[in-house]
Amino acid sequence: MEITSPDFEKIIMWQELESIIREEHKKIKNLEMEIEEVKSDISAKKEEFKEIEEERKKLSVERKNLENDLYQCEESIKKHQIELNQVKKNEEFKALLIEIENLKSKKDDIENKILEIIESIEKLDKSIFETKKKINEEELEANKIVSDKESEIKKTKIYLEELISRENTIKNEIKDESVKKRIETLFKNKNGLAAVKINIKRNETLKSSPEEYFCSGCNVKLTSSDASSVKKFNTFIICQNCSRLVYYRG
Ligand SMILES: [Zn+2]
Repeated sequence: MEITSPDFEKIIMWQELESIIREEHKKIKNLEMEIEEVKSDISAKKEEFKEIEEERKKLSVERKNLENDLYQCEESIKKHQIELNQVKKNEEFKALLIEIENLKSKKDDIENKILEIIESIEKLDKSIFETKKKINEEELEANKIVSDKESEIKKTKIYLEELISRENTIKNEIKDESVKKRIETLFKNKNGLAAVKINIKRNETLKSSPEEYFCSGCNVKLTSSDASSVKKFNTFIICQNCSRLVYYRG
């Protein structure tokens, strides 16, 4: 089947605009996805940083608790030392001495634990300082990337508006309603590809006519009658396999 139309060139132009419009839409979608990725990456890093800060808080509380224990321990030692002067019986005196020794060794343990925690806190503070600095730098960089991509989206949207208005103008200029409807249906069903150029391959084994014509939409070879019709002036043939409009341009 063939369609000869005075709007031949306009139909091809319409297809070209439709393809660019779809590409630009894709570009915007990709940019939006990239922006989301950059944003979620930086917020994941911030979440991780919060965990380090939580850890730091825990250590501070632990330190405070141990310092309380230490104070209690020292008070008990003092109290028992006073009691040493007051007891009369030898057994009681000995028992107090043992109690004081135990408390002193407990005090040593607590002091060691406090030292360990202080060391951990120092390490953590260093890491907090460095991580914070790194995140701040990365956030600055991320903000710049996001704002660049956003301005690219803005520009692309303006360009898209212009393309769409050009497409509408061309569409309105095409008077053949049936061809218009056919193309719109193909755009919808064939992923935006309604009118395609013929694909010519040379096959030297075919001595008499070495050129073979294919629909570049579906890659199926055209029948010999379609192959001869396609070269007629202002004429599309309808691909028998994919129904797209196939055209020839010398
Ligand atoms: Zn086809």
